[in-house]
Amino acid sequence: MKQKNKNLTCSFCGEQYANVNQLIPGNDAQICPRCIEFFHELIEGELKKKKKAPEKVALPPTPPAKEIKAFLDQYVIGHDETKKILSVAVHNHYRRLEALEAAAEGTAKKDPYADVQIEKSNILLLGPTGSGKTLLARSLAKFLGVPFAIGDATVLTQAGYVGEDVENLVRYLLQNANGDVAAAQRGIIYIDEIDKIASKTDNVSITRDVSGEGVQQALLKILEGTICRIPPKGGRKHPDQEYIEVDTTNILFICGGAFVGLDKIVGERSGKRSIGFEKDEAAQKAAKVLAEDPLSDVRPEDLVKFGLIPEFTGRLPIITSLKALTEEDLVRILKEPKNAITRQYQKLLAMDGVELTFEDAALKELAHQALTRKTGARGLRAEMEKMMTEIMYTAADGRARRQVTITQKMVKDSLEG
Ligand code: ADP
Repeated sequence: MKQKNKNLTCSFCGEQYANVNQLIPGNDAQICPRCIEFFHELIEGELKKKKKAPEKVALPPTPPAKEIKAFLDQYVIGHDETKKILSVAVHNHYRRLEALEAAAEGTAKKDPYADVQIEKSNILLLGPTGSGKTLLARSLAKFLGVPFAIGDATVLTQAGYVGEDVENLVRYLLQNANGDVAAAQRGIIYIDEIDKIASKTDNVSITRDVSGEGVQQALLKILEGTICRIPPKGGRKHPDQEYIEVDTTNILFICGGAFVGLDKIVGERSGKRSIGFEKDEAAQKAAKVLAEDPLSDVRPEDLVKFGLIPEFTGRLPIITSLKALTEEDLVRILKEPKNAITRQYQKLLAMDGVELTFEDAALKELAHQALTRKTGARGLRAEMEKMMTEIMYTAADGRARRQVTITQKMVKDSLEG
């Protein structure tokens, strides 16, 4: 054996047996101890590289609640109380992330509250359609500079059913974060029409939706915090595919819905409660507020009665309601926000050399019509668009009048046309 080995060389480095003193034979090759050592180090190095902690992305500084509210004020008209609640909630959300980071780094040792865990506070926004729920969520994300995704609960299904998987929401978020998992994990997901997945029929005015509860269960998981496995190129899941893992624990969820009929549930519950307290002045006052705006006192049990499962409402601890917009609000929406539609048209026409002005009465008329047609703020844009199309069509041809004033009559004619 020894004699035979003497003529052999290492199949990897070519070194002769005489120089290495040992060769470990394989099927059709042999390896010397130096090569074994070299490959061992090489493999270990690769493993270490793989295990290396992902690069840390610094947390953005936590904004004060007042700053968040001031930003929201620039874009969203009215809803003062809701804006305050949202601002505090988002501020706390970032404080919570800070606390988690400190705990992970072990820098929270001196903190007397080191063992206190701040729980995530997802938010439920109640309010009629077109009142600005999506706008609020979108403006928040804009201010924070975090990735944002919007989903619609009505198209969501349980995994395995035809329709959109709830994990798609996380996929959109990851897409909007340009694939940056760490950023997506601190993003905001807004789920619209959450009332449409109510399941129970305790409330008879709501149509039974058999899949509702299943969707709630599926959503519950991502609200609580789970690892979503997202196929990198989108599309259907495939057993052999590699996935990107996104942890939803720190994603802030804002759910919105009109919850038609919920006011009755609240009214009934609080009506029962107030019997016998009519003489109490404070109770009377509270009853009056409630009669005008029942959604201001929504409790989790009301939502359960509406058809949300208790675990689901439990994951939405912050509940706030938006009142329907008034005519005055609608006029303000037309003129005041930073990117108000009147301003957008003024800018567009100025680029064509046309100075555009709006009569106050014209804006009032638009608001009035949107209110009577119950099309809300969304309707304002559609009506404005229709009216402006004609004006912009002629403005672009160079011979147009250099000054255009939108009058009440023009609005009326356009709405009737
Ligand atoms: P919701 O989500 O409640 O159905 P949206 O946020 O989608 O309503 O509102 C539709 C549009 O109406 C918004 O994009 C915005 O242009 C306008 N809008 C609605 N509410 C407000 C508001 N309170 N302030 C400013 N604009 C608003």
